[in-house]
Amino acid sequence: MVPIALNDDRLKFLFKSASLIQIGMGQKESMSPPPPFDSDPFDCLKRNFTEDELEKCFRHFDSSNQGTWSHDDFRRFLSELFSNKRRPYLLLTELVEQYFQETDFNQDNRIDFNEFQQAWKETLKTTLKPVSALVIVDVQNDFISGSLALHSCPANHQGEEVVPIINRVLTNVRFDVVAYTYDWHPHNHISFYENRYLRPTAPESKINAADAKLLDSVIFVGPPKVEQVLWPAHCVQHTRGADLHKDLILVSNAIHVFKGANPNVDSYSAFWDNMKLAKTSLDDQLRERNVTDVYVVGLATDVCVAATAMHSIENNYRTILIEDACRGVDEKEIEVKRLELNRHGCIFVESTVVPGMVDGIDRRPELTRNMFEENLKKIRLK
Ligand SMILES: [Zn+2]
Repeated sequence: MVPIALNDDRLKFLFKSASLIQIGMGQKESMSPPPPFDSDPFDCLKRNFTEDELEKCFRHFDSSNQGTWSHDDFRRFLSELFSNKRRPYLLLTELVEQYFQETDFNQDNRIDFNEFQQAWKETLKTTLKPVSALVIVDVQNDFISGSLALHSCPANHQGEEVVPIINRVLTNVRFDVVAYTYDWHPHNHISFYENRYLRPTAPESKINAADAKLLDSVIFVGPPKVEQVLWPAHCVQHTRGADLHKDLILVSNAIHVFKGANPNVDSYSAFWDNMKLAKTSLDDQLRERNVTDVYVVGLATDVCVAATAMHSIENNYRTILIEDACRGVDEKEIEVKRLELNRHGCIFVESTVVPGMVDGIDRRPELTRNMFEENLKKIRLK
């Protein structure tokens, strides 16, 4: 049996630490994961998420038939919940115990149906029946073959390579919502190197705009006062450079988000501008459609993709970055952003595993923690 790889570096580390502790304590816990389960006890709940089915699910794990779960019952619940095609993900003993303590509100060392429902109903629903959006970031001509083509940037990535991968994802995965974002700048935009003389430099800026080179960072007086990387003019509104790549599949009923239209503030993220002064319509449109999970792809990994993924987490979406469907500007910066996003709960996957995740068959423990904690906060506020 090959263990299922955890993609979250933080959990990988924790799992390794836990194994060492277990060996150190002389426990003979097997390092290979248990065999797959015969059936998915959550099948009925996946089809029909009702109070009745929730109770049946609770009874399924209640081995003593006393109406409460022991630690073992709870562990079995978690390991069958967090599985991929019925093969369990490896779960840390410490993590299971933490979840148990957090679920056992009255601290009687058993979990009753009310506690289970309060702590897990919402998380369970999202884990089994996620509402998934694919957010396709800035797959525009200027980033592929135009003035800001990624192949001319330090990482030498080929932006065009994401197009067939995103198309395959669009064709093979049943997303509930698809959004296309556009970098959409006016001629006098602050991010254009060509416009560096248009605005006064702030005294604290290390580089004066007049002396700046391409990709230098300059602080402008404003208002608002902003630090801005100077990119070559790109994605000017209504030009060919701002068009999406001609081969990218356009699905009907998609959301289209235009960002960076304010001449004085750039907008890497598709949710907010860089100063968080204004919101795009993306969050409202995703909420209207009850989206729980946001998958981010596109250009460029370390700039607009990373900023969009970070704001997605801040907006409490479970956030997944599809790595092979992204290309970036600078390898070092890509790694910095990867670690930062990972720390905040974003997970990184290859496109081949996305269909199972969207269908609620591949259910990852790393995606649940933020959501579970948010729910606990709400319960404590009541
Ligand atoms: Zn831009």
